[in-house]
Amino acid sequence: MADMPDDGATVANSSLAERVTALMPQLEEELALLVAIPSVSAAGFPEPRQPLLDAYDFIVGLLRDAGVEVLEPLELPDTAPVIMGEIPAPDGAPTVLLYGHYDVVPAGDESKWESPPFEATERDGAIYGRGTADSKSNILVHVGALRAWGGKPPVGIKLVIEGQEEIGSALTTFPPSQPELFAADAMVIADMGSLRPGVPTLTVGLRGMAGVIVQVRTLAGPKHSGQFGGAAPDALLVLLHALATLHDENGDVAVPGLRREEWTGASYSDDSSATWPRSCRECRSSGPAASASGSGPGRRSPSPASTLSPSTRRSMPSCRTRAPSSAFGSIRRRTPQRRRRR
Ligand SMILES: [Zn+2]
Repeated sequence: MADMPDDGATVANSSLAERVTALMPQLEEELALLVAIPSVSAAGFPEPRQPLLDAYDFIVGLLRDAGVEVLEPLELPDTAPVIMGEIPAPDGAPTVLLYGHYDVVPAGDESKWESPPFEATERDGAIYGRGTADSKSNILVHVGALRAWGGKPPVGIKLVIEGQEEIGSALTTFPPSQPELFAADAMVIADMGSLRPGVPTLTVGLRGMAGVIVQVRTLAGPKHSGQFGGAAPDALLVLLHALATLHDENGDVAVPGLRREEWTGASYSDDSSATWPRSCRECRSSGPAASASGSGPGRRSPSPASTLSPSTRRSMPSCRTRAPSSAFGSIRRRTPQRRRRR
């Protein structure tokens, strides 16, 4: 830390960038050490817990070295301990909460990995390994940022790094009971991917979600389709017709009043779709599903428009020979945040 500036607030942007560049080799080495810890989360925080605790200890050490006052772990029921830390805000400065998680999902069938899952391996400019992107590299982003400011950033810092995000975070319900622990002027949730490899990406908002259950009832009970098919109103057909009106022939949402704003941020490129899963690439280019991606503004934009995703199920599993009397559908609505104009 001897070569770090005494007063972070005086660091010029150019020297900050140089400092970050200089820090990268060490951060990559530490990322590899963190990836090597198989901190797979499991419901209820059962034995063996050691890998999760090892990851906890490793990150705590990094944060302490970066100038963070690491607090007592937040111990919630049946979950890995949550790392809590802080750097007090300079007078009058805001506080920023930095979030991450140190648990990972299981590696699955290791024979399908091109390199061992818990061994950070560089290929084509990317580092592969279970949890590398989600979200161990993001934890190193926090560490690197604090180091770049010599442990004295121009804002106050709160750190919250949990160990059970992948299987149902305890933090979905706990913060309202002790909001002061999480009070901050801004939060950086370092748990998103980049737009495409090699492009540093700042995600400023996700669509919020609402769910609607729709039921159509046409008859008092199902009727035999051999006798009554065609004559008896089919609830599922009615529901499908109704759901089909939610989008126009281009796949754009056709419901008046749903928000669609001009998108000024970065968008997905044709190149980036090459990295999407195969089935997703195909649905972009052919067949009826192609239009479901929409052709209007924001087709490839991360969050400019509301989306509606219907799904259906027949109310009776055995109604193949019957015209169904009722049918259920659900509509998942995603709405972008209203962005502040400057
Ligand atoms: Zn994650």
